[in-house]
Amino acid sequence: MKVHILLGPPGSGKGTQAKRLVEKFNLNHLSTGDILRDAVSKETEIGRMAKAIMASGKLVDDDTVNGLVFARLQQGFEGDVLFDGYPRTLQQAKALGEFLSTQMIGLGNVVNIAVPDGVLEARVVGRRVCSNNDCGAIYHVESKPPKQDGICDLCGSPLKHRSDDTAEAFRSRMADFNASFQPLLGFYEHQPHYRSVDGNLAPEQVFESLVQLFPESA
Ligand code: AMP
Repeated sequence: MKVHILLGPPGSGKGTQAKRLVEKFNLNHLSTGDILRDAVSKETEIGRMAKAIMASGKLVDDDTVNGLVFARLQQGFEGDVLFDGYPRTLQQAKALGEFLSTQMIGLGNVVNIAVPDGVLEARVVGRRVCSNNDCGAIYHVESKPPKQDGICDLCGSPLKHRSDDTAEAFRSRMADFNASFQPLLGFYEHQPHYRSVDGNLAPEQVFESLVQLFPESA
């Protein structure tokens, strides 16, 4: 088992691309956003603590997120894991590196989906997601509308506008993102498996670039 990392700002298409890579290469998808949203909906102790932080677009603290991720990795996986939304800070990246080396788990691809800031806000504010967590299909009101307004094409559940996908929360997420992302990139960009792909292209083209990278170690 190896872990692969997808990096990129909110709205870079990370979630969409992760789902497709997971299907194509039979990877295990580990999205910290999904794990946290699940904790919020189940009203666990962590969920209750994280709810307001997530709604405001801030980052949940490193120790909590690291703890959730390491606990899940320790349960084991058949095959490789693709992280989506983790690590988000230098501290998370360092803690992950130490955890992987003590557990003798290899680091696979580290891929950054690079998108200029200006295009991101419109993508995020128009995003709609399926309310059924087992489906999780992602739409966009303009570039990828569902066939029937507000209803998921795949499972028929209502679509929702995530509370952190407003323009206000997006700006707060971008401020946090920018503050933590440069140190994170600095940490990874000289590592042997680091690659960057152009995320300002049609999703299909971005996916093609990613597919070229993954067979190396997936
Ligand atoms: P996402 O679905 O990846 O956009 O994550 C949604 C929200 O969950 C973020 O805005 C954060 O509040 C929280 N979150 C997800 N992943 C992390 C992480 N690695 N570190 C801290 N907070 C996170």
